[in-house]
Amino acid sequence: MDSSSFAGKIDFQVLFENNTDGILIHDLSTNLIVSANQRSLDVLDRAKEDILNKSPFTFHAASQLEDEAYMEKLNRVVEETKKNGKSKAKRIHFRQNGEKTWLQVNTYLMPPPHDNLMVIVHQDITELEQQQVMIAQQNKELLAKNKELEAYIKSNSLLENFAFTAAHDLQSPINTMVSFSKFLKVSLEEKDYEEAMEYTEFINEAAKNLKALVKDLLAYSRAKSAQYNPETFDLNNLIERLIKELDFSIKKSKATIELVNLPEDFIGDKIRIRQLLQNLISNGIKFKAPDRAPIVQIKCKTLDDCWLFEVSDNGIGIEEKDYDEIFKLFRRLHHKKAFSGTGIGLALCQNIIEQHKGRIWLKSEIGKGTTFHFSIPKPD
Ligand code: ADP
Repeated sequence: MDSSSFAGKIDFQVLFENNTDGILIHDLSTNLIVSANQRSLDVLDRAKEDILNKSPFTFHAASQLEDEAYMEKLNRVVEETKKNGKSKAKRIHFRQNGEKTWLQVNTYLMPPPHDNLMVIVHQDITELEQQQVMIAQQNKELLAKNKELEAYIKSNSLLENFAFTAAHDLQSPINTMVSFSKFLKVSLEEKDYEEAMEYTEFINEAAKNLKALVKDLLAYSRAKSAQYNPETFDLNNLIERLIKELDFSIKKSKATIELVNLPEDFIGDKIRIRQLLQNLISNGIKFKAPDRAPIVQIKCKTLDDCWLFEVSDNGIGIEEKDYDEIFKLFRRLHHKKAFSGTGIGLALCQNIIEQHKGRIWLKSEIGKGTTFHFSIPKPD
């Protein structure tokens, strides 16, 4: 049976009235709604007399009619339908009690000669939209939980790594002390005092190493758990005092320390900033080139929203591949015999900068020197 043979048998009015989608017929030549099925009245929550022979603007909220973007969208639908024969859009609709619903609006033009008639089909997609909002919210929460979990796993594996490497690094001087104590005992029994003296020095060296490790480890874990206590202070005073404390290593290496444009009203955690600068300056002195005395310069540029620091030296330099490595806990690039140290200093520096919500990075050239840059935002 072809469709034409249906025509006489089917009551299209019944189909129209019982359609589960809201259907309106909009006469574009008069700008009036000329027909509306029951579902469209339900979806729009309007009485028939409020819709029929009225402009479609009557069922939009006043606030929407004043909204330029919304009106542009409505016009676009009409223009597109006129041009392409159909269009679709999503819009918010307000029921009589102000309740907000979401509508999917599909339109199409009746075939000529009735192409002045635009059919507007409304579907209430509020539930779908609400579900989508809920899913987006759940996704956001999941993402945040995931981040938390990642941070937890990271901190756990950092902790494991920390404990493992700490134990490993602590063990080395302890082993030296145990072994050389045995040798010392034998030397003393044999009354070989010269050898005994040599072993005593090894033990002493290992004990110093152990002391430095424990001291740095303590400083690191204290800094990690410490509260951030900002105050305003003069950085010149702080560094001048620091230079006095470093007097021994400065004199020993004939180092020059230069201060350029340091702020008098810097805001940060004084104890932590002192630790940070002490580590960077000490490294600048320690990793000196064999043929020249160290020159360490501490420079600051005060910007509107942050302080930009540079701590530069003319030392041995760092290869670019190690730029990230050196901030890892216990990571050292040289043998202890060449340069003493625990590999904790820069991990601590990074932690301090993070506490101040800043960033630390470096530029270096092997054989020429290194510049550590760090930024510290000014508090709001
Ligand atoms: P430490 O100084 O105790 O070895 P740090 O964490 O301060 O540990 O530094 C890690 C490593 O980074 C150092 O062992 C060294 O290899 C390298 N490094 C740090 N600062 C400098 C510098 N100014 N010049 C050259 N190498 C440096």
